[in-house]
Amino acid sequence: MLLYRRLMTAALALFLCVEWGPLSAERGRWGIASGDPFVKEVALTFDDGPREHGMQELMAVLKEQDVHATFFLVGKFAERYAPITLSLAAAGHEIANHSYTHPKLYRLWVEKIMREAERCDEVVEGLGLRKTRFLRPPGGGFNLKVLNAMRRMGLRLGLWSLNSADYTGRPKEEIVRLVTRSVRPGTVVLMHSGVPNTVAALPEIITALRARGYRFVRLDDLWNGGRV
Ligand SMILES: [Zn+2]
Repeated sequence: MLLYRRLMTAALALFLCVEWGPLSAERGRWGIASGDPFVKEVALTFDDGPREHGMQELMAVLKEQDVHATFFLVGKFAERYAPITLSLAAAGHEIANHSYTHPKLYRLWVEKIMREAERCDEVVEGLGLRKTRFLRPPGGGFNLKVLNAMRRMGLRLGLWSLNSADYTGRPKEEIVRLVTRSVRPGTVVLMHSGVPNTVAALPEIITALRARGYRFVRLDDLWNGGRV
């Protein structure tokens, strides 16, 4: 299953890089799975938040390390834990769209897909924050219906090129090892909100990568110097 997910992620990343990625003339059209392979930048992305537990710890580590990240929020959680959503934005993190109820978007009709993304945005904008620029379909699965819906909404696909697999309950040491060994210039790292082992792994990951000359950026910065 893990191998399948890795293969799927790699295929998606390749698909975007070859067809519509940062190096192509069509840059900006569909989405991003990684940044410039010649620039030592890495984007940390956290899915499925805000969670009831573990968010303060995560935000504290990122603040301590002076790292701005991208949070793909599930709309209904962003609504339920509105103060956390607001503090993420106030701390300088990018708020991105992970649908409203976290369904497999590719199974829905285009109108339903749009509604899922819109409802997430309604929560975000209702809190006075700016509309999201990137959508990450739950599970990373998408098809032409999803792309069509996103294009109609002016959203871009925000995928990843390195899966930390932190949702499997793997120990902190494994997360540190996997991420520090696999990061390359332009890597987008998939992590999750509210995972204690991820929070514990972050200081070592950040320190190790900075020592190798990496800069931590948000997805919108990785995309186009923030001019999305
Ligand atoms: Zn998710």
